[in-house]
Amino acid sequence: MKIICIGRNYVAHAHELNNEVPDEPVFFMKPDSSLLRNNDPFYIPNWTNDVHHEIELVIKISRLGKNIEKRFANRYFDEIGLGIDFTARDVQNKLKEKGLPWEKAKAFDQAAVLGGSFIEKSVFPDQQNISFGLKINDIVVQDGNSGLMIFSFEDIISQVSKYVTLKIGDLIYTGTPAGVGPVRIGDHLEGFLEEQKILDFMIK
Ligand code: ZN
Repeated sequence: MKIICIGRNYVAHAHELNNEVPDEPVFFMKPDSSLLRNNDPFYIPNWTNDVHHEIELVIKISRLGKNIEKRFANRYFDEIGLGIDFTARDVQNKLKEKGLPWEKAKAFDQAAVLGGSFIEKSVFPDQQNISFGLKINDIVVQDGNSGLMIFSFEDIISQVSKYVTLKIGDLIYTGTPAGVGPVRIGDHLEGFLEEQKILDFMIK
């Protein structure tokens, strides 16, 4: 199984990091060793001083496919979940400056937080209007809605599968809305998908 992450999928977030809004999705990958589940605590690595939270909707691929046409793309996932794409922003900025790949900043152990419960996509009346968010120490820091995505779930599946075969169980983190920022030791993070609390864990 692989984890594919979409970058710059919300205009306001692209702007907050001074990035251009892309005309096709930017994507990168994390290894399965980066998964953090079961609301286990996240330990800030000792080589970074600036780990940022990026709360994201996650779709789970349910069917094998390559070169998937957009009009069929919805058949390739059944469930929607919630995760955090932890990013060592200080390291990422250095890598970006040099034009180097982002793995050190994005693919490290525990960098892909995943909620235990996925929700059947049929439960959502409108896939273009799914709200989600992140609270830190009871304060809302990110508040997103799938309607603000530049690339829809179908766009993402279609575009990514031009390059990479999608397999059953693959996860796609669909990008973060504005409001990213650092986490600190002792922070309590809670992630919400609509009204449901999906994530609840500590930073150590
Ligand atoms: Zn992200």
